[in-house]
Amino acid sequence: CAASVHARVASAVESRTTRGLRPPCLATVLVGENPASQIYVRRKREVCERVGIVSRPLQFDATVSEEALIAAIDALNADDEVDGILVQLPLPSGVDTTHVIERIRPDKDVDGFHPYNIGRLAQRIPLLRPCTPLGIMELLRARGETLHGRRALVVGASNIVGRPMALELLLAGATTTVAHRFTLDLADRVAEAELLVVAVGKPGLVDGAWVRPGATVIDVGINRQPDGSLIGDVGFAAARERAAAITPVPGGVGPMTVAMLMQNTLHAAELREAGDGTD
Ligand code: NAP
Repeated sequence: CAASVHARVASAVESRTTRGLRPPCLATVLVGENPASQIYVRRKREVCERVGIVSRPLQFDATVSEEALIAAIDALNADDEVDGILVQLPLPSGVDTTHVIERIRPDKDVDGFHPYNIGRLAQRIPLLRPCTPLGIMELLRARGETLHGRRALVVGASNIVGRPMALELLLAGATTTVAHRFTLDLADRVAEAELLVVAVGKPGLVDGAWVRPGATVIDVGINRQPDGSLIGDVGFAAARERAAAITPVPGGVGPMTVAMLMQNTLHAAELREAGDGTD
């Protein structure tokens, strides 16, 4: 599925260059030495190269001041050759993430985390949409899943996955419930769900035996085991016995997230050229 998004983006980029337009450009902003963040940014840049998107890496020490980071964002906002700005999260504790995200021009916010873009999604007029939920919607559509009226449960309510996931499912017509830290009867909620999306970051949080037979299960969680291997949030072996389909960790949602970042960068270039960004 990610490969077909790559092919679609690569062909659109190629068609731009044959029409004399420059390829889209994604600026990646990495702060500090977080190993996971370094891997994620490297992977995003590799995929940029594969699809013909120009990547412009910016790297800052963990001690960078918020002012310096904001100044860098302002420069990228003003640069006509930059279509998308990605600030890899998490940022070091001395920097206010909200200040930085809100400084990104909404029409270059290819992660879709700016309140303007989240608000557009909430109001059913999406522009740039958060990549992980958008990638999950693409996976569901590629499988031919019915979403209208489907009983969907999102476990986890973060700004970057759970909440926008619930908004995407609502937009698609699913009857959507969100479970979070204070949900008391998680097993019962899971047992009702025809479509289950879990994004918490706690291995085994959802027991595979709770899964409704025939459900579709999307496991967003990424948890590193002591032996270095990665697992999701759902007890995979038991869930696989019951589910109609379940995404693996690694290799399920992750590649779609990066693919959607490429699609968003292309979309951002097209939106600005059409003068249809934030106005
Ligand atoms: P996060 O910011 O830590 O958010 C986790 C959410 O789960 C929070 O809303 C948290 O509640 C909630 N939560 C905590 N305990 C819970 C419980 N017992 N039951 C239900 N909800 C609970 O994490 P995230 O950024 O959303 O990411 C979630 C997981 O997905 C992580 O493992 C992350 O690595 C992975 N991830 C994968 C991809 C991908 O592309 N595959 C992309 C992004 C994230 P509070 O808000 O109250 O703390």
